[in-house]
Amino acid sequence: MIKPCTLAGTDAPLRVLGSSGGISDMKVKEPQKGEIVNFKKGEMNVPDKVIIPYIEGDGIGTDIMKATLPVVNTAVQKAFRGKKEIIFFEIYAGEKALAKYGNVMPEETLVLINKYKLSLKGPLTTPVGEGYRSLNVFLRQYFNLYACVRPVKYYPGVPSPVKTPEKMDVVIFRENTEDVYAGIEWEEGSKEARKMIDFLENNFKIKVRRDSGLGLKPISETGTKRLVRAAIKYAIKNNRKNVTLVHKGNIMKFTEGAFRNWGYELAKDEFPKSVITEEAVLKKHNHHIPKGKIVIKDRIADSMFQQVLTRADEYDVIALPNLNGDYLSDACAAQVGGLGMAPGANIGDEIAIFEATHGTAPKYAGQNKVNPSSLILSAKLMLDYLGWDQASQLVEKGIARAIQQKRVTYDLARLMGAVTPVKTSEFAEIICDNMGQ
Ligand code: NAP
Repeated sequence: MIKPCTLAGTDAPLRVLGSSGGISDMKVKEPQKGEIVNFKKGEMNVPDKVIIPYIEGDGIGTDIMKATLPVVNTAVQKAFRGKKEIIFFEIYAGEKALAKYGNVMPEETLVLINKYKLSLKGPLTTPVGEGYRSLNVFLRQYFNLYACVRPVKYYPGVPSPVKTPEKMDVVIFRENTEDVYAGIEWEEGSKEARKMIDFLENNFKIKVRRDSGLGLKPISETGTKRLVRAAIKYAIKNNRKNVTLVHKGNIMKFTEGAFRNWGYELAKDEFPKSVITEEAVLKKHNHHIPKGKIVIKDRIADSMFQQVLTRADEYDVIALPNLNGDYLSDACAAQVGGLGMAPGANIGDEIAIFEATHGTAPKYAGQNKVNPSSLILSAKLMLDYLGWDQASQLVEKGIARAIQQKRVTYDLARLMGAVTPVKTSEFAEIICDNMGQ
């Protein structure tokens, strides 16, 4: 059951949604064959023929989704020869939904995301300074998708601003619901801001300049622990070597510092057999990591920005609060080809949305020109999530080879020099052709 809430920026209250949603006249036709992923005691069970809805997205969404679906289908077909299959079907949000339903985020779409658990999503427009608030943020909050997962990895041949980009292979777990992004803020001069300033002065003798805007930075034990738990589970499942908690706890002791402390506490309490702290490795094991142990360490955020430039290979899985996570994931992506190459997923306890990290790039919409790699790699992440590793490896192999052959879209071609760019759809075909031996 999804909790009722109001679509940010509109006054339309959403009804309580069950698995059917109580909608009798659905506009979308759901597939007749295939099954839904299901959960038993928190463990996901993936049927061989799995149904997954997708939102095409606005702007270049149409170009990149058209390229992505055949790549995924080809990889699954080549890997499993018909034994496994993804049955994709379209659901609507953004401009296409407005045309079809008269609403940018129809209730039916929310019902279907909730029902099918996993979905693939193109970028959605957020009007600047007017209209509705971000549909992307809305989906994360509505479905409590608390972990923003962004793998950042170098593919040989991708133009990079650093000397050894191949050292970068990290998976970032950014907290998605708290921190200064919680949206708790008051404008300078407003009644609320003045009230808060008076409250702080009268109750805590804290003086804040009267011409200040104010914001709150909540970071909870619950939010921190569920994120760090997801990061450690990922590290264990994927044979990663270490998990780094990144924070600014030297300055913000009760928010960022608490994030660090709760992270260590969770690792010790819930994963005692799998993890060891960096401190224990140094002090008790003479700098040697005991076999099979994942090292938990922490770094101050500003130092971490240097570390990912100078010693990227010392980092593996990285867990961090919302704001620093936002900055660090883009900084890491810049080293390996930028946003066009950066995949992402927003993951909750059962529901997950896999999405390109860039926006709708409206000036290129419908031109069959842009790089679909971000969405294709997000779909690869979805294959990993399903446990369909053979198909995931084929997608990666196809992309890596296409790049090595310098058969790439305009964004990479212009950085490679003297390379004629291919169209979005051609790039997808080249990836599929490269999945063979
Ligand atoms: P953007 O859409 O990410 O585009 C900015 C620039 O990034 C493009 O002009 C292009 O650079 C490059 N780029 C983006 N995607 C690319 C791709 N697939 N291949 C090659 N190059 C690509 O950012 P924006 O213009 O700031 O945002 C446009 C809209 O998208 C806004 O409404 C924003 O709110 C929304 N948005 C949505 C999401 C989401 O759905 N998750 C995320 C971010 C933004 P060049 O011009 O240099 O070629």
